[in-house]
Amino acid sequence: MRILIVEDDKNLNRQLLEACSEAGYVVDVAFDGEEGHFLGDTEPYDAVILDIGLPEKDGITVLEEWRRDGRDMPVLMLTARDRWSDKVSGIDAGADDYVTKPFHVEEVLARLRALIRRAAGLSTSVIACGPIMLDTRTSKISCDGRHIKLTSHEFRLMSYLMHHQDKVISRTELTEHLYDQDFDKDSNTVEVFIGRVRKKLGVNCIETVRGLGYRLFASEADSAE
Ligand code: CA
Repeated sequence: MRILIVEDDKNLNRQLLEACSEAGYVVDVAFDGEEGHFLGDTEPYDAVILDIGLPEKDGITVLEEWRRDGRDMPVLMLTARDRWSDKVSGIDAGADDYVTKPFHVEEVLARLRALIRRAAGLSTSVIACGPIMLDTRTSKISCDGRHIKLTSHEFRLMSYLMHHQDKVISRTELTEHLYDQDFDKDSNTVEVFIGRVRKKLGVNCIETVRGLGYRLFASEADSAE
């Protein structure tokens, strides 16, 4: 899962970056509205945290332009406490939710998780696929009740597949949601990660769809090889 943070306050930006990275997301950051707008317009994000008061271009304008251009990723707005009108304009501009400053970072993370799972059509914090469970609150994956220890890349890959289970996901799409904008993206490494994750899970649940990509499906735990 890959997210974008657009916040001009350097401390707040860093605080959000650290919390989101720790929660298992790969994160791109922007410090003004122009840069933020550009990234959101050109890179695929699973969610965006967008401040309203930004230099160069304000958050409402950024959001209106994204929505006008068909960018439909979930957006969580950051608003000032005493500006109720910001919340109204934010939601009218296409925001999916908002958090009022000052906030506890845990609240931002909880709202982010909810936005991401709702975008995937899921309603609970624990996502299941056969014997595999992803607890989005703790960023932990288990198989048949056994905790599966994954690296951050492997976790992001599984989290993306769990949110899009039963759909065929191309290698390019997976790659785009695993790495930040500065990473030299090589879709071949996805194959390596898939191989490792399959081994760790020990169940046959990731199908390779020749020429198209991968599909996570619910399998029986006892079909392990
Ligand atoms: Ca600001």
